[in-house]
Amino acid sequence: MSAFDLELATRLQAIREQGLLRELRRVDSPQTPQLIVNGRALLNFSSNDYLGLANHPALKTAAIAATEKFGAGAGASRLICGSLEIFHELETALATFKGTEAALTFSTGYATAVGTITALLGKDDILIIDKLVHACIVDAAKLSGAKLRVFAHNDVADLEEKLQWAASEQSKATTEKPQVLIVTESVFSMDGDAAPLREIVALKEKFGAWLMVDEAHATGLYGERRRGLAEALGVSDRIDIHMGTLGKALGASGGYICGSRVLIDFLVNRARSFIFSTAPVPAAAGAALGALQLIQSPEGGERIAALWQRVSSLRSALGLEANRFQSAITPLIIGAESDAVRAAEQLRERGVFVPAIRYPTVARGTARLRITLTAEHTETELKLLLTALSELKLPTGN
Ligand SMILES: *Cc1c(COP(=O)(O)O)cnc(C)c1O
Repeated sequence: MSAFDLELATRLQAIREQGLLRELRRVDSPQTPQLIVNGRALLNFSSNDYLGLANHPALKTAAIAATEKFGAGAGASRLICGSLEIFHELETALATFKGTEAALTFSTGYATAVGTITALLGKDDILIIDKLVHACIVDAAKLSGAKLRVFAHNDVADLEEKLQWAASEQSKATTEKPQVLIVTESVFSMDGDAAPLREIVALKEKFGAWLMVDEAHATGLYGERRRGLAEALGVSDRIDIHMGTLGKALGASGGYICGSRVLIDFLVNRARSFIFSTAPVPAAAGAALGALQLIQSPEGGERIAALWQRVSSLRSALGLEANRFQSAITPLIIGAESDAVRAAEQLRERGVFVPAIRYPTVARGTARLRITLTAEHTETELKLLLTALSELKLPTGN
C-alpha cells in the first residue's frame, strides 16, 4: 500500500470501529417496492419515491421524448448555450404549479441550496437555521461565511431569541445593515415531522427577516394543489424563497427555487452552482414535467390517498400516536449506531430493506431505522414489514 492509501485505510478503520462505515449496495432493478440488491430480492422501505413515480411509464415516456427531441446531454451551462427549451418549459410549469412568478431549476437539490444561500448572503449577514436541516443547508451556511445561529428543532421561542440577537447585531452595524435569513425544512427528512410554518412566518414578518423553506419531502404531497406544506398551512404567499427537489415525490432528478421574478433573475446572476455547471440532461427535465402533470391529475390524487392509507396502517400497527403528523417517513429511534446497523441487518436477513440512519446524517446516539412508504406498497408488503419488525431482537436497557 502506498503511504497515501495507508493513511486513508487508517481513517476508514476508525470510521468502521465507530459503527459508521458506509458502503454502496448495488441495486439491479428499478426503484419499486421490490428491489434486487446484490442479486437478492428485498422489500424496499427506504425510497423517497413516495408516489411511485420513478419507474412510472408516463415519466419514462416523457424522459425518452425529451431525449429524442433535445439529445442526451445539454452541451454547456445554462448561461452559455445549454438553456434548452425544455428547461424553460419546466420552470414555467413549476412556477404555475407553486403559484409563484418564476422558477429556476438546478441539477440537484444540494446545488440548489448551496447556490441560493451563498448568492443571498455574505459574511456580514446572518443565517438562522433549524437544528435538523439537511446537510446541503449546513454546507451552504459554511460556504456563505454568514454568521450562523441554530435554533432548537421546531422551537419557535428559541427562533425568536435568535432573531432578537440578530436585531441587536443589525442595530450595531455601522455601515450596511446585515440581512437575516431563516431557513427551515417543511417536513423533516429524517424525522418526518413538520415545521410550525405559521408561527415561523409570523416571526419572520415581525423581525423583517427573509424566509426560505425547503419542501423536499412535502412537494407533491400536501395541500389542495399538492404544492407542499406551506400551501396546506395557507402561508405560501408569505415565504420569500420556496425550495424543493424533483427527485423525491416527483420521481425525477434536480432541484428548484420558486419565487418572485427578481429573485430568479438575481439567482441566474449570482448562484454559482447554477452558473458554473453544465445544464442537466434533457431527460431529467422531461421526467419532471411528466411528474408535474401526473401529480396534478386524478391519478396523482389516488396515489397520494394510497400513500396516506399505508401510512396510517403502519402507524396504527406500530401503536404510534394517532395525532402524529402524517408523512411518508416514520423513524424508529434505536439509539446506538451499532444497534441500528444490527437491526437493519436482521431485517435484511428477513428480506426487508430499511436503512439504518446514523451520524453524521443524524446526531450521535439517535441512530434509527427510517421507514418510508410509497403509494406502490401493498397491504401484504406492509404486513411482511410488520412481522419482520416484531421479530427484531434489539438489545434491552438502552
Ligand atoms: C434530498 C434533500 C435535498 C437534496 O436534494 P438532491 O436533489 O437529492 O440533491 C435537499 N434538502 C432536503 C431536505 C433533502 O431531503
